[in-house]
Amino acid sequence: MQLIDGNAIAASIIAELKSQVAALPGRKPCLALVRVGEDPASVSYVKKKEKTAAEIGIESRVILPPVTIAQAELEKLIDDLNADPTVDGILVQSPLPKPLDELAVFRRIAAHKDVDGFHTLNLGKIAQEDDTGFVACTPAGVMELLARSGTDLKGKHVVVLGRSLIVGKPVALLALQKKAGANGTVTVCHSGTADVAALTRQADVLIAAIGRAEFVKGDMVKPGAVVIDVGINRVADASKKTGYKLVGDVDFAAVSQVASKITPVPGGVGPMTVCMLMQNTLKARRLAAA
Ligand code: NAP
Repeated sequence: MQLIDGNAIAASIIAELKSQVAALPGRKPCLALVRVGEDPASVSYVKKKEKTAAEIGIESRVILPPVTIAQAELEKLIDDLNADPTVDGILVQSPLPKPLDELAVFRRIAAHKDVDGFHTLNLGKIAQEDDTGFVACTPAGVMELLARSGTDLKGKHVVVLGRSLIVGKPVALLALQKKAGANGTVTVCHSGTADVAALTRQADVLIAAIGRAEFVKGDMVKPGAVVIDVGINRVADASKKTGYKLVGDVDFAAVSQVASKITPVPGGVGPMTVCMLMQNTLKARRLAAA
């Protein structure tokens, strides 16, 4: 069994991005990070993004509107960032506190600055296999992990668990694309799927993104399959200082006995998501300059 080490792969991508940014003519790429409220997970995600940007040489501009901000004011803030020629990428940290309409805010971000890849146009470009758009960071990270661990999807049955707009659907579309490394035969499972295990057992490549702790058991996986675990779930653990531990959607102890390659949680897909955000920001800068 080969462990797909997301930390090591992310570190090499960060090094590549750093030298690409250093070689850029003119001003450095700039990423606006908008965080509303003090949700502890959001605070730590934005800090991580700021830190990674600094490491690569990308300027980050953190904007912290008050939790009481009205929808119209937040949208005005996005309009101003859209119009600012010194900002290349805009990320609004999810989840936004209620009653803000998150989807409306995501759609407000100009498609050419939508480095999170949630804009309708960017999702549509994946379906059209148009590489000028931005692919959402987690699905892009999954594809990068597969490529860098030597997994070609051509001729393989790829089973995706989950059909969310931020992971399941885009990753299924990417695996389906008629291009090198992809070209898989794709099945997508969701809560309406009759017999999930019967389908996961047929998977040569299994991508789990359902948000259910250790849902995928050893007997649900075909021997030799490649397993990518996107899930991040908190489960109570009194032995930890925090009182919880992070586990994926895959029962790692059991499935690692069956799979040929597998990502751990933490240290698999997670580190790739931030890297792909930086890659998209660099792409936005290049597109703006061209
Ligand atoms: P989500 O929006 O809640 O979507 C979950 C999907 O799983 C839905 O399509 C749902 O089906 C399906 N599902 C739920 N229970 C199921 C079951 N028992 N059998 C079959 N399908 C089931 O979640 P998400 O945002 O895609 O996130 C999924 C997981 O990935 C979470 O653990 C999240 O924390 C993690 N995540 C990680 C990263 C990262 O950077 N590593 C990034 C994003 C998300 P329906 O559509 O029918 O409801």
